[in-house]
Amino acid sequence: MPGSASLSAPQKALRKLGLARDIDLALHLPLRWEDETRITRLAQAREGEAVQIEGTVTDSQLAYRPRRQLVVTIDDGSDTCQLRFFSFYPSQQKALAVGQRIRARGELRGGLYGWQMVHPTCRPAGEPLPTALTPVYSTVATLPQAYLRKAVMAGLARADLSDSFPPGLARHLGLDEGWSLRESLQFLHHPAPDVSMASLENREHPAWQRLKAEELLAQQLSQLVSKRERDALRAPRLAPTPGGLHEQLLQALPFALTAAQRRVAEEIARDLGRCVPMHRLLQGDVGSGKTVVAALAAAVTIDAGWQCALMAPTEILAEQHFRKLIGWLEPLLAPRGLCVAWLTGSQKKKERTAMLAPIASGEAALVVGTHAVIQEQVQPPRLALAIIDEQHRFGVAQRLALRSKMLAEGQEPHLLMMSATPIPRTLAMSYYADLDVSTIDELPPGRTPVVTKVVSDSRRGEVIERIRAQLQQGRQVYWVCPLIEESEVLDLSNATETHQSLSEALPGVQVGLLHSRMPVAEKKAVMARFESGEMGVLVSTTVVEVGVDVPNASLMVIEHAERFGLSQLHQLRGRVGRGAAASACVLLYAPGENGRLGETARERLKAMVETSDGFEIARRDLDIRGPGEFLGARQSGAPLLRFADLELDRPLLEAVRAVAPRVLERHPEMAARHVARWLGGKSEYLKA
Ligand code: ADP
Ligand code: MG
Repeated sequence: MPGSASLSAPQKALRKLGLARDIDLALHLPLRWEDETRITRLAQAREGEAVQIEGTVTDSQLAYRPRRQLVVTIDDGSDTCQLRFFSFYPSQQKALAVGQRIRARGELRGGLYGWQMVHPTCRPAGEPLPTALTPVYSTVATLPQAYLRKAVMAGLARADLSDSFPPGLARHLGLDEGWSLRESLQFLHHPAPDVSMASLENREHPAWQRLKAEELLAQQLSQLVSKRERDALRAPRLAPTPGGLHEQLLQALPFALTAAQRRVAEEIARDLGRCVPMHRLLQGDVGSGKTVVAALAAAVTIDAGWQCALMAPTEILAEQHFRKLIGWLEPLLAPRGLCVAWLTGSQKKKERTAMLAPIASGEAALVVGTHAVIQEQVQPPRLALAIIDEQHRFGVAQRLALRSKMLAEGQEPHLLMMSATPIPRTLAMSYYADLDVSTIDELPPGRTPVVTKVVSDSRRGEVIERIRAQLQQGRQVYWVCPLIEESEVLDLSNATETHQSLSEALPGVQVGLLHSRMPVAEKKAVMARFESGEMGVLVSTTVVEVGVDVPNASLMVIEHAERFGLSQLHQLRGRVGRGAAASACVLLYAPGENGRLGETARERLKAMVETSDGFEIARRDLDIRGPGEFLGARQSGAPLLRFADLELDRPLLEAVRAVAPRVLERHPEMAARHVARWLGGKSEYLKA
C-alpha cells in the first residue's frame, strides 16, 4: 500500500515526472482525449472509426495460427465483431468468457469475417457512461494510465486553484474571462463531449489560452525576480583610467576595432562602471572578433586593481582562444609586477599548485583555463570579472558554480558570457529576460565570403584534386570527420582511415591527425605544426569546432556533413575565410540506403549553402530542432514551456512580457504565489 516508508514503482515514477505537489498533478494536462461517452451500434459504424461498442460475448477461443491469440466474438444485437488479443492475462481471458457483457473500445476494421478490433480496451458493461471525454496523459511504463488518472483527479481536487491573476489581467490580455484557472483545468482534464476536438488539439480553446497566459506570466515573473535579485547585489565599479591598461592595449593592437566591436566594448564598459554585477552575453558570429572585446574588459578590470578569470570549455580551445589575448596583455602586465595564471585539467599537480599562490596573492591578474578555474582551491581574492567563452558548451550547473563561488570581498563579480551561436529573438525574450545582450554584427574587414558546396561522397576524387590545387597555392586545408557519439571507436577509425587515405593520395604533403582521444600535449604539437604552415592538411574530429585561428587555411571539407547539426556546421565553416584568400567549404554527404538524404539533413545542408549569416542559421536551426534542443535544456533541466509555443503564441508572449513588470510591482504577493505554483523550485536554473 502507498504511504509506507518506501515508495511504490508508480509513486517513484510520479516523482520522476516532476509530479510531486497537488498543483503539479493538476497542471499535468492530457496529451489527448478519448470519447467514451457514447456507444456505437455496429450496424451504424464505419470502417476505420475509433468507437466504443457494447455487447455479449458469444464465443471465446484460443487460436494458434498465424500466432497464438485470443479471439472473442461479441454481439451487440445489430451485428457481431471479433476482438483479437495477442497478449493477455488469464484474468482478462476470464473477463471475456462467453456470456459476459462488455464494452470494447478500439479501431474498427472490416475484414473477410466481418468487423474486427485488434487489442481493444475492454471493461465490463453496466457502469454508467462517462459524461466527459476521457483524458490520456503522457506517462512512463512504470506508471499505468489508470493510476495516473486517479492521481491527477485527486491532485486536481486537492490543489489550491484560486486565481493568481490580478483582477483585470485576463481581460487586458484579451482572454475570455469566463475561463479562470480552476475552470480551465477542470475542463481540459474532462472536456464536455460536444467540444470541438480541433480546438482542444490545436490548443486554441479559451481554456488553453488561459493556461498559456498563466505559464508565460510565471516565466516572465520569475525572470524579473532574478533580475531584481541581481540588482540588489553589489559588484566593484570598474572604470578605465586615462592612459591606463585599456588605452595601452588599444594602441598595441595590430588592427583598429570595427564599429561593432567599439559599440559592444562600450556597452560592456558601461556595465563594468556600475555597482551592479554585469550579466551580459556577447554574441557574434564566428570570426567576428569577440576575443579582443574580452581582452579590453579584462584590461579595464586589471587596471582598476582587480582580477579577471577566463574560462573556455576545452583545453585546446582555452589555449587557442586565449593565446592571442595573453600575447596582447602579458607584455603590459609584466611592468606592473603582474602575471597570467594557467589552469587546465591536464596540468601536472605540481604545476597547478604552483599557480595557486600567485592567484591567492593577486599577482596573477588574469586566471585563464578550463573547468579547472572553478575548482575549490582556486581562490582569487579580488575577482571582479568572469568571462566564459562558448558559454553554451558549459552546463548550467557549471555556470552557476562560477557565479556563486566567486564572491570577492562580499561582492559579486561581473559576468560576461560569449557565444557564436546567437539566441533567436523569441528565445531571448522568453528564456533570457534576465540577460543583457550585446551583438557584434559585423566582421573585420578583408574577409572573403566562404563559398559552400554540397557534394556527394562518390565524388571524393574531385575533392582531393581540389585539395591538391589549394596546397599548390601554398594554402592549407581542414578535413573534418564526424564525431559518432555512441561509438568513440568508430569515430576514431573513420578519422584514421581518412588520414591514411589522404596521406597516400597526397604524397609529399604533411597530413596531420587530431582527435579527441589524443593526449593534450600531442594535440598541441599537431596544432602547432598546422599553425606554422608546416602541415598542409589537418584531418580531425570536431575538436576544431570552435576557436582555431589559422588564416592561411582556405578549404574545409566536412565528411558526412549530413550527421552534423546546423550550428555545428556553421561553427566549423567559420574556421576558413579568416584571411584574404578566397575560401570554400565542401560538405560531403553519403546518401542513405535508399540513395537519398533524410529530410532534416537536406534542410540543414541547404541552409548552409543559402546563408552564411549566423543569425539566419540560428533561426533555421530553431525551426528544424525546436527550442528545447536549441537550449540544450534536456541536460540543463531548465523548465521549458509546456503549453505555450514561442512562435505560434508570440502575440500573447509579447503582451504578457509587457504587463509582467506591472504585475510584480502592484501585486507582489500574488506574483510570488503564481511563480511558486507554476515553477516550484525550478526557477533557479533560469538565472544561469
Ligand atoms: P571570434 O569572435 O570567433 O572569437 P576572434 O576573436 O577569434 O573571433 O577573432 C578572429 C580573428 O580576427 C582573430 O585573428 C582576430 O585577431 C582578428 N580580428 C579581431 N578583430 C579584428 C579587427 N577589428 N580587424 C582585423 N582583425 C581582427
Ligand atoms: Mg572565439
